[in-house]
Amino acid sequence: MRWLHFWKKHKVLLSYRIPMAVCEVCLFSDGNAFPVCPRCGLTLEREYQPFCDRCGQALDWKKFPKASIRTPPS
Ligand SMILES: [Zn+2]
Repeated sequence: MRWLHFWKKHKVLLSYRIPMAVCEVCLFSDGNAFPVCPRCGLTLEREYQPFCDRCGQALDWKKFPKASIRTPPS
């Protein structure tokens, strides 16, 4: 059943290329706010970048104007 394992692995890789909606913004105590990657949960350097520079997830910014605001875990 090795092919099944391969297929599952490949499917995961492909999912990185299907954009995931960015719907959270992390607001820091210094007043700076950064969008949050929907896959790895880390903050993104720039708004409207096409991919997360940490995990490579493709990003969809359509929901970003209505993003919910959260504070960083302390
Ligand atoms: Zn990421």
